[in-house]
Amino acid sequence: MKRVLVTGGAGFIGSYLCERLVEQGNEVICLDNFFTGSKENIIHLMDNHRFELIRHDITLPIYLEIDRIFHFACPASPVHYQYNPVKTVKTNVMGTINMIGMAKRVKARFLQASTSEVYGDPQVHPQPESYWGHVNPIGLRSCYDEGKRVAETLTMDYHRKDKVDVKIIRIFNTYGPRMALNDGRVVSNFIIQALTGQDITIYGEGRQTRSFCYVDDLVEGALRMMEAENFIGPVNLGNPEEFTMLELAETVIRLTGSRSQIRHLPLPADDPTQRCPDIALAREKLDWQPAIRLEEGLGRTIAYFDEVLSTKDVLDDLKRWEYLQSNGVGV
Ligand code: NAD
Ligand code: UDP
Repeated sequence: MKRVLVTGGAGFIGSYLCERLVEQGNEVICLDNFFTGSKENIIHLMDNHRFELIRHDITLPIYLEIDRIFHFACPASPVHYQYNPVKTVKTNVMGTINMIGMAKRVKARFLQASTSEVYGDPQVHPQPESYWGHVNPIGLRSCYDEGKRVAETLTMDYHRKDKVDVKIIRIFNTYGPRMALNDGRVVSNFIIQALTGQDITIYGEGRQTRSFCYVDDLVEGALRMMEAENFIGPVNLGNPEEFTMLELAETVIRLTGSRSQIRHLPLPADDPTQRCPDIALAREKLDWQPAIRLEEGLGRTIAYFDEVLSTKDVLDDLKRWEYLQSNGVGV
């Protein structure tokens, strides 16, 4: 049993991490400012005596006695991280300094949730960890991309200078139930559009590619990485099956039986043209690879959104989401 802190624990991925860590018998502290996370994601854990929730913004210091930190706090959807780009940088820089500073003080092991965005619009394909990336430092995505790159830098500098026990995972596009209705990322957008009979919004021609990892697979990889000895990373965690956005749209339409039509919208600036992880290192060091293929994961995610859309009063959420779409926020 360990005392584990999950920053961003009320978010999409963080909530699954909290769940798994509690199931394993750990004492879990979930820390979140609820910018994109929600209490609904963790409500089922609230009665568990091994689970604790703290509303806190990581840009401010906090001191907790813990053994492990899964550092996941940061908005991940372009719509949300571009909403207040300076705050996104603060979360990644000041927030990460605060969290690693705490790890240093209490001698906790620290895992940084980094991203495939550190590779930018990659010119090497698929992307191995040794690739340094191709990132625009002054574009709309830079607050997130460069923020996460500095967070990796901080992680390594605290390790070299202060001997903090650190790990870095680079997460590729991850999806699944509990993505927010207004998340704005492609999988939830397409599914909600298909289920509600709206046009499927493809940005650009739809030939750009992504590789989609189901959340259970990702969480398994993160847990293995945290407990791996003598391996700092960075390590890519993602599903190496690559799809164009057109292929994704067609698959979602087929699986939902929707009559939605495809509508093309302008391609956002700096939108990476291709992305696919080389996961040889994760296979070798963590004996990890994704088990859930796209259609199976989409099936589970569609069932989730179907349920949410039919049982919950989602009007306000959807209105906000449609407003963001029609005003091209994040587009
Ligand atoms: P998410 O937006 O659902 O979760 C982020 C959580 O962090 C939310 O609960 C939010 O409220 C919280 N948060 C944001 N800023 C905070 C702050 N200043 N203080 C405290 N809490 C704060 O996103 P997610 O998809 O679950 O992503 C989680 C992490 O994984 C992020 O660090 C993201 O960069 C990384 N990641 C995710 C993906 C993906 O495809 N889902 C890909 C690459 C990296
Ligand atoms: N995208 C799209 N329609 C949408 C949302 C996203 O075509 O409604 C595209 C987006 O332009 C990008 C890809 O889907 O090429 C993945 O976008 P997402 O925001 O999910 O994540 P990213 O990998 O870009 O951070």
